[in-house]
Amino acid sequence: MIPSLSEFDGKTQYLFVQPDGRILSAVGGKGLKKNSIIFDEIPDQKLKKDITGEHASVIYCKVDGEERVLVLRPFKRNGWFVCELATGSFIDSEVEKYFAPFKKVFINIILALIVFLALTVGASLLMRKWYRNDQKQLKSKAETDLLTGLLNKISTEQTIQDYLNTIDEEELGMFVLFDIDNFKNINDSMGHAFGDEVLVAVGKELTSMYRTSDIIGRLGGDEFAVFLKDIPNDSVRLHMAETTLKFFQNFKVGEYTKYSVTASIGAAMFPKDGKSFEELYKAADKAVYKSKHNGRNRFEFYDGE
Ligand code: GH3
Ligand code: MG
Repeated sequence: MIPSLSEFDGKTQYLFVQPDGRILSAVGGKGLKKNSIIFDEIPDQKLKKDITGEHASVIYCKVDGEERVLVLRPFKRNGWFVCELATGSFIDSEVEKYFAPFKKVFINIILALIVFLALTVGASLLMRKWYRNDQKQLKSKAETDLLTGLLNKISTEQTIQDYLNTIDEEELGMFVLFDIDNFKNINDSMGHAFGDEVLVAVGKELTSMYRTSDIIGRLGGDEFAVFLKDIPNDSVRLHMAETTLKFFQNFKVGEYTKYSVTASIGAAMFPKDGKSFEELYKAADKAVYKSKHNGRNRFEFYDGE
């Protein structure tokens, strides 16, 4: 295809050349002149050979010190040649023009792929997040005592045991067990719903009485457990016992009824009275028994018996 003259870039030329190399006409931009001998301007052996040949050929050459592409097309009737002498930029722009629609389609395909990939990745991340949230909710439901919102029996035991596994025996801890006094009576006289209200109130008060780092749970029925971390000395130990007992001695439930609720409390010290949850529980349970036995509404420490 012969490009229209308007497409020439000012340097690209269109030439008619005789077999002896004389340029009969030169149109287009600057470069080779009419009547000059093409072999003088482009001293290339391949050009001499190709110009006497019968086939179209391409020669890469320099004109005015600039890279050009010379396309030779034999003019079969009289041995003349049509030459297109194009600059690199002209070729580049032609190539670009040719490939522009493909490029556009290619870019659109890439963009569509990117959007598709982004949507897929986004959707899968969202699904994973939902899945994780669901798992978290399920886990926290499985760990929570539904009535009080505290840890349930299994997770109280697990959490305390996990904590004990991480500390060395130099750190002292206090395991406290609570059993509400005469809870059956509360249920019987005030109704089961009020009994529930008492359990919820105990859970709430225990949560506000101790540090957030302490472990608080409901072991079932009217039994609650707390593990107080990092009890540095005896005076803190006694202070905690006193505060706890005082709280239960003044504890009233119900907005109007103001029903007094007390508890029998027993405590065991880590690591002296036990090094595992089980050992601490057994010791504290004995202390609770002692509290009940000694008249309820008391705080007793496990004394080794
Ligand atoms: P003691 O002073 O010896 O502890 O006597 P008590 O009446 O408190 O006896 P105990 O601790 O053995 O009784 C626990 C009662 O708690 C028995 C059961 O009916 C009641 N209970 C257990 N779970 C729930 C609950 O979720 N809600 C209510 N309202 N009552 C419960
Ligand atoms: Mg009880």
